[in-house]
Amino acid sequence: MISVGPPPDQMMFQLGLRRRGISNQLVLRAMEEVPRDRFVAAADLAHAWRDTALGIACGQTISQPFVVAYMTEQLQLKPGHRVLEIGTGSGYQAAILAKLSRDVLSLERYRTLVDLARARLEQLELHNVEVMLADGYDIPANLGSFDRIIVTAAMEQLTDALLERLEPGGVLVAPVGPHSGPQTLVRVTRATEGFDRKDLVEVRFVPALKGIAREL
Ligand code: SAH
Repeated sequence: MISVGPPPDQMMFQLGLRRRGISNQLVLRAMEEVPRDRFVAAADLAHAWRDTALGIACGQTISQPFVVAYMTEQLQLKPGHRVLEIGTGSGYQAAILAKLSRDVLSLERYRTLVDLARARLEQLELHNVEVMLADGYDIPANLGSFDRIIVTAAMEQLTDALLERLEPGGVLVAPVGPHSGPQTLVRVTRATEGFDRKDLVEVRFVPALKGIAREL
């Protein structure tokens, strides 16, 4: 028998996302196209296509694929959007965003993670993502505003400074709650006047910490 199609691990990966309720075809395709095995630690290669978070350098994590797909779906990305991510980590979520938007700027507070993520994204020829060493609590003013913002580290609360970076009609998705977890994934939409907030699901993320990391 000749077998065609993606390897079994990746087929189960797609099926799992659909079964858990991810229905946006563009999101599912992006999840299929980005090779998660390129973003995990060498020791975790065998687990790359499992639906679990995994440890990466600097004591951080690459998020669970279902959570990546769910947050991406909630962002309602359009091809013309300019997107900000806070918490590059492995660069995996940034790669997914890059497939579905015009430009992605991803901020990370660990130099080591910035360098690793940049190299991976370059290898995959995702040229519309920029990874920057910066503190997501203190976003450089010259970076401007964004159609979509995704935060992939837990914030105890959302700051006005961050929400003000949303364009009118813009959407932010972020885990909000205590650093020890669990947190609530919230979606904030910038309305004509003020902001509309919706609580989505319970999640567990590593904390968003202030400042550039002093360790590499
Ligand atoms: N999106 C990542 C997973 C992120 S884990 C992925 O797809 O792999 C959360 C990341 O947020 C960690 O790498 C952590 O260092 C980073 N982080 C935490 N606080 C931050 C801050 N204030 N500014 C920028 N990055 C931050």
